[in-house]
Amino acid sequence: MSGDALLRDVSVRGWPGLVDCRVRGGVVVEVGPRLRAGGEELVVRGEGGALLPGLADHHLHLAAMAALESSVDVSGVAREGLSRLIARAVPGEDGWVRVVGYDEVAHGELDRDALDVWNPVLPVRVQHRSGALWVVNSTGLRRLGGDTPDGMARLRVATGDDIGRGLVWRADAWLREALGARPPSLRAVGARLARLGVTHVADATPDAGAGEVVAEAVRRGELPQHVLLMAAESTASDHPRLSVGPVKLVVADHELPEFGALVLRIRRAHAVGRPVAVHCVTRVALALTLAALDEAGGMRGDRVEHCAVADAALAGELAARGITVVTQPTLVARRGDDYWARVAPEDRGDLWPYAGLLRAGVRVAASSDAPYGDPDPWAGLRAAVERRTISGRVLGPDERVAAATVLDGLLSALHDPGGPPRQVAPGLPADLVLLDRPLGEALRAPDAGQVRATLIAGRVVHG
Ligand SMILES: [Zn+2]
Repeated sequence: MSGDALLRDVSVRGWPGLVDCRVRGGVVVEVGPRLRAGGEELVVRGEGGALLPGLADHHLHLAAMAALESSVDVSGVAREGLSRLIARAVPGEDGWVRVVGYDEVAHGELDRDALDVWNPVLPVRVQHRSGALWVVNSTGLRRLGGDTPDGMARLRVATGDDIGRGLVWRADAWLREALGARPPSLRAVGARLARLGVTHVADATPDAGAGEVVAEAVRRGELPQHVLLMAAESTASDHPRLSVGPVKLVVADHELPEFGALVLRIRRAHAVGRPVAVHCVTRVALALTLAALDEAGGMRGDRVEHCAVADAALAGELAARGITVVTQPTLVARRGDDYWARVAPEDRGDLWPYAGLLRAGVRVAASSDAPYGDPDPWAGLRAAVERRTISGRVLGPDERVAAATVLDGLLSALHDPGGPPRQVAPGLPADLVLLDRPLGEALRAPDAGQVRATLIAGRVVHG
């Protein structure tokens, strides 16, 4: 349906009582009580449900979400379970067994020899949960061209010396090319996000290849959402639902970048009019990032992704510089116990701040980091309100945030996470979510099942 629609008896922020909302040409043209129905309109009965602007996920990885759907996910599985799953796995379209969610603490060290014992027949590649490492078995290495000494030498040049043990570090783009795989379809991912009420997404994948896969999927109509791209190479685009946002930079926790190099990358992004979005998950990474931003000079729209360890002083530093934080409540719920166990004891009180950042005056928006976090924004709302981990611990009780505040972050514009929430009002884009109940009720027990319909640019994409 791309036609005009009249949503009847909905509750809209700023209006007392129920109103109707008319959508024409992808735009909200009228809001008010008892609008007269036009001839050719699709009439949707709202039955008192809340009509909201569509939700924005300010940080996710679309191609990785699609890839996950055809992968074996071993997160939360013990080493014995891992060996069993790899031994029995069914290969995907490309003939490979693709495994994700490997974690050296849960599964022990992994290399080509270990994989060969479990599965000597099929090519197997196993991704570390950080996304930074692939472990490949011997059949896999042969498939990648390592079936002769010359071939292995070429692989060594392309990926580094650890390839001998089957370890491929930070070489996703190379691997994709070497596999010659067709890019995964994003149709299922787009439909799933539409069911969740998500109309806007920021793809935080730094590499250009993944950005291009996403851009192509939007152009082909596989993905109905508005998409902001963060790869450095992305250029201003040719499609109304595509845009280019901050440049994603990764300050890796295990290998801090050289200070001058980080400053240079920030300057390079700013020089082409793009802010930066810097991945920071440790106190040291955040301090280095702040120093580099000071050296390079800040730009409106600069942001820190994750901000997984920050105390009140660092929050103040972020606020003073006008740096936005994009956080991930479901990572707290899913992995909070793990973070608690792994970080230095003095960092435990400062894990994944949210309310503390808001108190300091930082703009904060929640996001999913899917597929690493839960793509369901309603699960994200619950996680931000409760901060309850799998073991039942409340991680940082003072960091809990009211559901309405988290929702406002989800309603902020893609180019201004944590900024003012978008509105349902005449003249604004008809990117809308209709719930099956009033907002107050929905926020008491947020659940994706309450999404009745989702419209993007006036088109019904779910419901
Ligand atoms: Zn991410």
